[in-house]
Amino acid sequence: MTLDIGSLDIGFVGLGNMGGPMAANLVKAGHRVTGYDLVPEALRQAEGAGVRAAASAAEAVRDAQVVITMLPAGRHVLAAYAELLPAARPDTLFVDCSTIDVADARTAHELAVRAGHRAVDAPVSGGVVGATAGTLTFMVGATEPDFAGVRPVLEAMGRKVVHCGAAGAGQAAKICNNMILGISMIAVSEAFVLGESLGLSHQALFDVASTASGQCWALTSNCPVPGPVPASPANRDYAAGFAAALMAKDLGLAAGAAEAAGLPTELGRRAAELYADFAAADGAGLDFSAIITTLKENRA
Ligand code: NAD
Repeated sequence: MTLDIGSLDIGFVGLGNMGGPMAANLVKAGHRVTGYDLVPEALRQAEGAGVRAAASAAEAVRDAQVVITMLPAGRHVLAAYAELLPAARPDTLFVDCSTIDVADARTAHELAVRAGHRAVDAPVSGGVVGATAGTLTFMVGATEPDFAGVRPVLEAMGRKVVHCGAAGAGQAAKICNNMILGISMIAVSEAFVLGESLGLSHQALFDVASTASGQCWALTSNCPVPGPVPASPANRDYAAGFAAALMAKDLGLAAGAAEAAGLPTELGRRAAELYADFAAADGAGLDFSAIITTLKENRA
């Protein structure tokens, strides 16, 4: 079923760093958004952007045609669904944009369908900057009809919407992509540290690798050393950016999924360990490219 996208009643639960600006973009697109967050300050900020504040999560979704959740982790989503699914009108479209475990995403989908609703997983890439600018990429796990229904809603918050497959496929794409990113950032960082010790300047290595087979996003857009890419967080003391804590979380989800599938993914697991250690040792709020500082410190 394709939704009439004129102007929708949307319930939005989880108005934090990402959810707040996403809800604001839905308001700008002409939708009536009713929101809820456990933190009163988050709710007040969203109100300032035109979101109607609800007194509870259940109230936020009672009259909604579409319900969007943007919560920290799978356990929050499943706990919220226990309250939201019975409160919503039949056949409401539930859209979870949080980054969560693939298994939790499939459970959330099943619970929603069993309660008489439709459900999609639609995690995002693009961070707070993309959420604010409305330029997020959405990775969607959904049936064809539900994808057609959710697409125009997501387009109000993002630039690219990709249908990755059935329930859970959006989360699968998100953690696989971020596993590539986490590993490649460590690879690029190790190369700079080794190059440095061999007397190679950062710029020389960048000039070669960025136009040779070492080319990748971690190098050419988010370069972990200051200088070669002026916009990269390395030039501003690694102010995030994409926080190392979130990279640690996503790599942990990838490692958990690999374990459940009986796959070794050795580099993915090692990257998960390195990022977890880095986040625990004061790196949590820094951009994930700051992992290079630990590689330098660990020099023998
Ligand atoms: P955040 O902590 O800023 O926001 C989460 C919000 O959910 C908080 O305001 C919290 O109070 C609220 N919340 C928790 N439980 C709730 C409940 N039961 N009812 C109502 N509100 C509740 O986190 P964020 O940075 O906005 O991230 C949200 C999700 O997006 C996470 O899954 C994260 O991994 C993912 N993500 C974040 C980024 C990023 O750069 N921040 C990028 C991509 C994906």
